[in-house]
Amino acid sequence: MVATPIGNLNDMTPRAIDILGQADLIAAEDTRVTGQLLKHFGISTPMISLREHNERSMAEKLVARMQAGETIAQVSDAGTPAISDPGAVLAACAHAAGIPVVPVAGASALATALSAAGFTAPHTLFYGFLPPKTKQRCDTLTSLKDAQWVTVFYEAPHRIVDSLDDMVTVLGPDRQAVLARELTKTYETIRRMPLAQLAEWVKSDSNQQRGEIVLVIDAAPPVEAQESSEYDHVLAPLVAELPLKQAVALAQSITGAARNPLYERALILKKTLEN
Ligand code: SAM
Repeated sequence: MVATPIGNLNDMTPRAIDILGQADLIAAEDTRVTGQLLKHFGISTPMISLREHNERSMAEKLVARMQAGETIAQVSDAGTPAISDPGAVLAACAHAAGIPVVPVAGASALATALSAAGFTAPHTLFYGFLPPKTKQRCDTLTSLKDAQWVTVFYEAPHRIVDSLDDMVTVLGPDRQAVLARELTKTYETIRRMPLAQLAEWVKSDSNQQRGEIVLVIDAAPPVEAQESSEYDHVLAPLVAELPLKQAVALAQSITGAARNPLYERALILKKTLEN
């Protein structure tokens, strides 16, 4: 399973070049796309097309060839195979036949976007593509609304405005989000702001509705912090003017609420003010 660049050809690893050059056959998602890559690196290994619609029948044929001693490298159009791309079926068939599956690590839009997002929650869910229709998309988002982990979505450019609108509706306008567009390419754009602002910004600039996009959404605020948002009318002006500890102490004596949830909420309000 050989990862290839997601835009910048300098992200091709020396190991990927070696493996693709040495393999007997390259199973590629689109042989025209991979053909360009191979040409750039002077690799002349033959290719065969392995796409979503022929993945199973092709995987069986490829396993038979590997059992006969051939080495086959799987690539997708860009990034790491089997991540929202073909590859998993071939890997599963190879495992079932006792053939070693060797990952050749490299670029993936998932890890690239996540590394730049700057969210500190310790857990992350990679969701991949949301459903294309609003009803199913909102149902999916509702099921993720209170999740205490960062969520990574792939999104098509022609759906970015609708998806952001649904996210504002379901996850709320204040949830921090990162739009990571055209990663590693000339027009790479990485913007972090609350969802409502992000949606407005994308709507106001049609350039942001083009190219390849990853959305990274911050974890939901801790439940106690959500509950304590009822004290925002007291806490917010204090956080805007005072150091955090002092703002929380004052809010505590005014409202009589517990300190920890107030503190958690104050952190969120401070973050919102900074953005
Ligand atoms: N397997 C690939 C990977 O590991 O990155 C992902 C393939 S998936 C079919 C394509 C989606 O990945 C795009 O719609 C976009 O959401 C994301 N993507 C791929 N390349 C990207 C890039 N350079 N910048 C931002 N997103 C990218």
